[in-house]
Order: sequence, then structure tokens, then C-alpha cells
Amino acid sequence: MRHLLSTRDLDREEAIGILDVAEDMAEVQNREVRKLPTLRGRTVVNLFFEDSTRTRISFEAAAKRLSADVINFSAKGSSVSKGESLKDTAQTLASIGADAVVVRHPASGAPQVLAQSDWIEAGIINAGDGTHEHPTQGLLDAFTIRRRLHGRTARGKALDGVSVSIVGDILHSRVARSNVWLLTSLGANVRLVAPATLLPVGVTGWPVTIGYDLDDAIAERPDVVMMLRIQAERMSGGFFPNAREYSRRWGLDDARFNALPPTSIVMHPGPMNRGLEISSRAADSDRSTVLEQVTNGVSVRMAVLYLVLSTGKGPA
Ligand code: ASP
Repeated sequence: MRHLLSTRDLDREEAIGILDVAEDMAEVQNREVRKLPTLRGRTVVNLFFEDSTRTRISFEAAAKRLSADVINFSAKGSSVSKGESLKDTAQTLASIGADAVVVRHPASGAPQVLAQSDWIEAGIINAGDGTHEHPTQGLLDAFTIRRRLHGRTARGKALDGVSVSIVGDILHSRVARSNVWLLTSLGANVRLVAPATLLPVGVTGWPVTIGYDLDDAIAERPDVVMMLRIQAERMSGGFFPNAREYSRRWGLDDARFNALPPTSIVMHPGPMNRGLEISSRAADSDRSTVLEQVTNGVSVRMAVLYLVLSTGKGPA
């Protein structure tokens, strides 16, 4: 794999292959010494133009557990805030000798621009670009679902027939998009549940069913309920009347959580707005995978870094 820009580019077999390598990486995490020498001498740059907590530290932990050298480059306080262009930044990183660049950017498509440019030869990994995609989040979510369903026998399996309801701010969510492409490639049945104002134009062309009512979705007994954060920072207009109204209609509150089948799992990519899109009871229950998602994120990112960096330079 030369770059990882989108889950839309991954076919079913490739996706299963990445999840299987992540299983191998997860095994290493259970050892006393959790470090592999695999990427010794390689340099990974975390290039973050947007705030992040878990994604950045997750990539950092993943790269370090593979013995890579890690450079964290945050746009705040760097020459980027002095107006340096993406091209100049990329060329600087190339001159430093970056082998892989993990990039988060507020503009959809920025990682693709880097990957297609001749500014830098490094493997580019998209860590979230605008409202477009967040492929490693999709992969870690698929990995988490597969593990919950199949436990230690997950290797080689897809997600055929698994029902997943993705609920909330689909419009602004790169997590939702990466999950839609990946989970449906793996055979899952995805339902989007949101107010009409938080669904993107063109969603009718996606391989999903659409619902506007969370209680109806819960009555269908989904295997997985994935709650999304309300992305206030990307909202300028009135997408819903107020937070209380949103929470009443689309929040996973205690009553809705209690109405879910006992086997359903509850997911959230974080950061959570507790009391808005998810209640603390739902978030902290043993059916919630919120912290497992974070743990699994490290294994999945180790797999992605390994696959990108072992491909070397040259065409995919
Ligand atoms: N952390 C995820 C992202 O960067 C989800 C979120 O921010 O709501 O897209």
C-alpha cells in the first residue's frame, strides 16, 4: 500500500488484509515488551493542521512501537501560521527525510494533493481531511466490531449481514463517510439516522438506508449503534433548534440505551459530548466500545504504518 487516503479505495480483500495485520499487531500489545524493531531507521512525521488528541497520540504510539523515529509537527506555532504553503511544508519534510507523513487538515482532499504532488516521496496517511474521510478511524471501528463479534477467531472474517446504525451529524462527519465505504465493502448493512438537515446532499447515492428517527432504528435491533459527535466547529447555521431538542430526538439517552438488545454494542469515535449525543450511562457501560476503539486504534495504525512503509517508494 503506497498511501492510505480513503477507505473508498479499499476492496473487501484489502480491507480484511489490513484488519488481519492489525490482529498481529494487537498480539504484540499483549506481550511484556510491546515494541517491534520493524521500522527502525524510518521517520514518521505527524503533520497536524487541526486539533487532535487521540488520533495524534495514537499514531505516535503506533510508530514508536514499531521503532520508527517520530516527529510531531503541529501547524499552530509553526511556520504554517506564518503563511507557509502546503508545498513548502511538504518540501521541508522531504528534505528532513520523512518516510511517511500522517496528515490531518481542515481541507477535504489535502492528503490527496500531497500524495499526487512531486513535492515529497513519502507515503501519505490521511488522519482526517475536512469532512471527507478518516480512514484509520473506519478501520479501527471495523476491527472493533469484528473483534466483538468473533473474538479470537476474527482473522480472515468480514462483517457480512452485521447491522450498523450510524447516528447524528453525518453531514460534517469524515468518520461516517469512512465507515460507510468500509463497512459496506465488508458486507455490513449500514443505516444512517439523522435530522434531514445533517445529511449530505447526494446521500441517496450511498450504499445505505436512511432514517430520521432514532427510536425506529433502535426498534430494528441493530448489532451496532455508532454515535457521532455534533461538530459545532464546522457549523455556521442553525442545523437544529437547540442542543436540548437535538438530544431529545437523536441522543442515545438512558431510555434508548435500555431499549437496545443486550447484545448491541455502542460506539463513539470521540471526543464525546456527554449528555448531548450520548448519555454517560451508555458511554460507560460494558456494551460501549469507546475505550476499546482507542486501544484498537494503535494496533490498526501500526498495521497501516507497516504496510505503507514496507511498500517503499514507487507506484502502488
Ligand atoms: N475525532 C474524529 C475526527 O477527527 C471525530 C470527531 O472529531 O468527532 O473526525
